[in-house]
Amino acid sequence: MILITGGAGYIGSHTVVNFINAGYEVIVFDNLSTGHIETIETLKQIGNVTFEKGDLKNINDIDEVFSKYKIDAIIHFAAYSLVGESVVNPAKYYRNNVFGTLNLLETMVVHNVKKIVFSSTCATYGEPKYVPIDESHPQNPINPYGNSKLTVEKMLGDFDTAYGLKSIILRYFNVAGCDSQNRIGEWHEPETHLIPNIMKSVFDKGQKFKIFGDDYNTPDGTCIRDYVNVEDLAQAHRLAYEYLCRTDKSDVFNLGTENGNSVKQVFDECEKAINKSIDVEIVERRQGDPAVLYSNSAKAESVLGWTPKKSIRDSINTAFEWTKKQYNV
Ligand code: UDP
Repeated sequence: MILITGGAGYIGSHTVVNFINAGYEVIVFDNLSTGHIETIETLKQIGNVTFEKGDLKNINDIDEVFSKYKIDAIIHFAAYSLVGESVVNPAKYYRNNVFGTLNLLETMVVHNVKKIVFSSTCATYGEPKYVPIDESHPQNPINPYGNSKLTVEKMLGDFDTAYGLKSIILRYFNVAGCDSQNRIGEWHEPETHLIPNIMKSVFDKGQKFKIFGDDYNTPDGTCIRDYVNVEDLAQAHRLAYEYLCRTDKSDVFNLGTENGNSVKQVFDECEKAINKSIDVEIVERRQGDPAVLYSNSAKAESVLGWTPKKSIRDSINTAFEWTKKQYNV
């Protein structure tokens, strides 16, 4: 059985769907602090999913799950992921993301479970020294969120050395889009991400869409990011797990499309996709946003056989369908 922590959240739930579609039995472990019980109910309708409510900060919660089921591997998403919040409340990030993961790893050792796929981030690289960013780019995070993820990456290396616990670290770029059958989607409260914020502004007149800065050193002045579709990303997790089973070797991969899109380009694409003009306002830069980030994902392609199949338009279309559902339109 595969234990997916954070499986009630955005990327976690799409990965649950990918694993159950491939015939795996999945247990979701989630404290529902940012994940949703409604998502769990939908996942149970899709396939063979067991839900265990619990908190990684409480080692007994994890130990109970490992004692109850025969777990082969962990896909570990459970974490807080808001950069701005991490700056003002670092303890929350170290307690949940680092201490919670330490509890998980210690429990894995006790129960002799030796495989984990870890959800990391391009935020561990910090301000890019060059683009596209490959896996050997220096890691100098510029916020506590990135620090917490990098700390876990280091812990994973140490647990491999000490106990032979094998990990695949996946460093994502910007994740976008929703389930192509519109059953689950991106559901953050509050929502901070680009595409869902554009979509929300279409249905909620109180939520005028704001571009954070158009004076960056980029062709149109807005930040450039690499938007990878969530279903493609979910597929990468399964390929990573199967690779780990085949090789029993720890490794690390970037996951992105290798294409940069500016905020203005994404906005224009959204207007085209919904065939409507959307109100927009240019405001101050958001703190901590590098001008340009995009990935070199050649390693994931050559080693895992992973290639992103969906375009940014696919992500926008599915995000639009999901937002309509949320607003009952
Ligand atoms: N962004 C924006 N308005 C929004 C949300 C995001 O202009 O309402 C910009 C943000 O400044 C960044 C890009 O869109 O340049 C992607 O931001 P997002 O929060 O989606 O992802 P991040 O890059 O922070 O992981």
